[in-house]
Amino acid sequence: MQVEDETIPTQLIENRTPVERAILVGAPTREVSQRTAEEHLEELARLAETAGGEVIAVIRQRIDAPNARFFIGEGKARELRNLLNTTEANLVIFDDELSPAQGKNLEDLLGVRVMDRPELILDIFATRARTREAKMQVELAQLEYLLPRLRRMWSHLSRIRGGIGLRGPGETQLETDRRLIGTRISDLKKKLREVARARAVQRKGREGEFRAALVGYTNAGKSSLLRALSGADLFVGDRLFATLDSATRTVDVGSGHQALLTDTVGFIRKLPHHLIASFRSTLEEAREADLLLHVIDASEPDWEEHREVVQEVLADLDLTHRPQLLVFNKTDRITHEEEATLRARIRALENTPAVFVSALREESLIRVRDALKARIRSGLKEIRVSLPAGDGETLAALYREGEVLARRGNGTKVEVDVRLPAAFLGRLLGRDGIEILERV
Ligand code: GDP
Ligand code: MG
Repeated sequence: MQVEDETIPTQLIENRTPVERAILVGAPTREVSQRTAEEHLEELARLAETAGGEVIAVIRQRIDAPNARFFIGEGKARELRNLLNTTEANLVIFDDELSPAQGKNLEDLLGVRVMDRPELILDIFATRARTREAKMQVELAQLEYLLPRLRRMWSHLSRIRGGIGLRGPGETQLETDRRLIGTRISDLKKKLREVARARAVQRKGREGEFRAALVGYTNAGKSSLLRALSGADLFVGDRLFATLDSATRTVDVGSGHQALLTDTVGFIRKLPHHLIASFRSTLEEAREADLLLHVIDASEPDWEEHREVVQEVLADLDLTHRPQLLVFNKTDRITHEEEATLRARIRALENTPAVFVSALREESLIRVRDALKARIRSGLKEIRVSLPAGDGETLAALYREGEVLARRGNGTKVEVDVRLPAAFLGRLLGRDGIEILERV
């Protein structure tokens, strides 16, 4: 195969142009409740549509454990083949991750392309990535997914490109491709490490500022909240994974305080672990945050399962130790009674503090601002400081860096009661003529 270095991966995994008619397959184990099983399939259908596919049928089977050859039972697999023969479907999507062997066996049996949920998510991510970093992260995840499945992908490709004298790749060609992909993977990892280092430097420059990160299930309203809180123009979409690139904005929380708020990629159940791994550096923002705002769609009946999925991903990223504030969003879509039920449920659940808001109702956002302000203040030292009356520079710094509570002057001296970040307090002590009168 003659392709240039930069284009190898994207060409190998290009699969979104044709309109695909898909059959979905859900094969949960017996412990999964009926409602949850259906919810998962509905979400898979949404994902398939997001990727440009059309769902024409859904097949279900309860399994004790995945079948080693086909994931579903062999009889069910043949039923699927019959269904394919009587419909126009040209794609089968499994809700669960298939092993490379299962994928290959199924394609051999069915004669159409077979995908699983992780691959579908990767495909959507590929069309959403905007920044160079996000593109590299998605490409890396795709290549790592692809590598053990190369043989299958190749036969799929050679079917598409049948006309150009490709009669199916020989072993040599496969080996060459494996090597090329291997090289590309280490290349991408190296570049991503460089980006991560640059990010770390950038973060260092923001030390001392209060930082919060928005995390949550996809479509919960994270970007909407960041936009509403900061007034920034950010992309919001009623579709899965509208945002892939993390954005950081300054949010005014009142009383002269500000917080840096970062939007992150949304989570979803069965998120491919390659993807989590490759998005690690984007999520570093969350790791160093003083507070995680865990956004939950209050109008979503399955919010508890969504919340668990988010917690699992956070655990995967080693982020569960960060303080959290639950932000129940979209309260404009629920009744007061439903909100009361929710509140009772949360109290019963645990001690994580929670606020109820709607990104569409500016006045409700004061609850988020207040919660942020309270956190910022709890990290502040309240002091009474005395400074020379002429020291306008220090006085301005106090207003800028802290929260001035009271100010008195007696001609030569000014006394200020102020809440200050500990780091700034240290710097203040070094100035001429400054006296700390009282620590509260
Ligand atoms: P993200 O994936 O978490 O970033 O979610 P988005 O901010 O992109 O929002 C997903 C969808 O929910 C969009 O259609 C938003 O307009 C909608 N949305 C977000 N917040 C609210 C809200 O408070 N109320 C209502 N009714 N819709 C909202
Ligand atoms: Mg978003």
